[in-house]
Amino acid sequence: MTEKRIDGKAVAQELRRAMAAAVTDLKAKHGLVPGLAVVLVGDHAPSEIYVRNKQKSAKEVGLNSYEYNLPASTSQKDLLKLIADLNVDKDVHGILVQLPLPNQIDPMAVLSAIDPAKDVDGFHVTNAGRLAVGLPAMIPCTPKGCLYLLKDHLKLPLAGMRALVIGRSNIVGKPMAALLLAEGCTVTVAHSKTKDLPAECAQADIIVAAVGRAEFVKGEWIKPGAVVIDVGINRVDDAAAAKGYRVVGDVDFNSAYEKASAITPVPGGVGPMTIACLLSNTIKAACVITGVPRPAV
Ligand code: NDP
Repeated sequence: MTEKRIDGKAVAQELRRAMAAAVTDLKAKHGLVPGLAVVLVGDHAPSEIYVRNKQKSAKEVGLNSYEYNLPASTSQKDLLKLIADLNVDKDVHGILVQLPLPNQIDPMAVLSAIDPAKDVDGFHVTNAGRLAVGLPAMIPCTPKGCLYLLKDHLKLPLAGMRALVIGRSNIVGKPMAALLLAEGCTVTVAHSKTKDLPAECAQADIIVAAVGRAEFVKGEWIKPGAVVIDVGINRVDDAAAAKGYRVVGDVDFNSAYEKASAITPVPGGVGPMTIACLLSNTIKAACVITGVPRPAV
């Protein structure tokens, strides 16, 4: 095992470096430049920041990034038309529609319209189903990044470990549980109806917290030596901070740090890994779609 405070930012940077080299190679050997289309509807401030970071990182590793900023009044029909065009666009290998969408648009209708081969977020039911039954799939970026930290970075012997995933969303909790199960962990999924969360935490060798509640998981709940992956991104008011708020995770970092053998900070933990995995999924999609051998990243 490496450092106790897992530096997701540094791990992601290393991955981006490897991906940049792979993209240079794909271009030189096969004339292939993976292309990522990012669609943002409306002016949801955090989404604008996420989208900007995704586009910046895509360009940094040498991917083509196509940006579609649509007004909040966009109809579902118009958005579906754009998706249909991107599905057949040969320069586009990955399509990402930033959530949340405005109320007049059904997110499931939109996500289902994306060609599963270009579904770099891994939210299409085809990819969710393939993951659930153990077939090759586009894996949602956040759980993929968490698994990378546990398996490739920390090199945990996952088979037989007890993992607790807190949260059962389609984008984090469920795919995270499926990935850990596939690795041979004994997986428990906790949610808002779970009766005694501290007791569940006390059993877990690995805790992945994806709850959406600031500093919710306390250090005293955690088994000594457990590995803690904090997916949460929460803003809490802080008059002393320059922006008037701080960003914290779903885990009370200071108390959890005392108990854990390794823990991700927020920010600088899972967030950068999510973006790195989006780029990796785009490279994978480009290679699968064009029949070019896939690089190891
Ligand atoms: P959702 O709101 O979709 O899901 C939250 C889950 O937490 C639900 O399953 C809910 O249970 C569960 N939950 C709520 N309250 C409790 C409780 N008291 N005890 C146990 N479980 C509870 O959130 P997401 O999965 O989309 O995101 C989770 C967090 O991760 C958020 O902070 C989000 O911002 C962050 N995030 C970070 C990303 C990154 O790149 N770092 C990417 C995606 C998300 P129930 O189903 O019963 O309601």
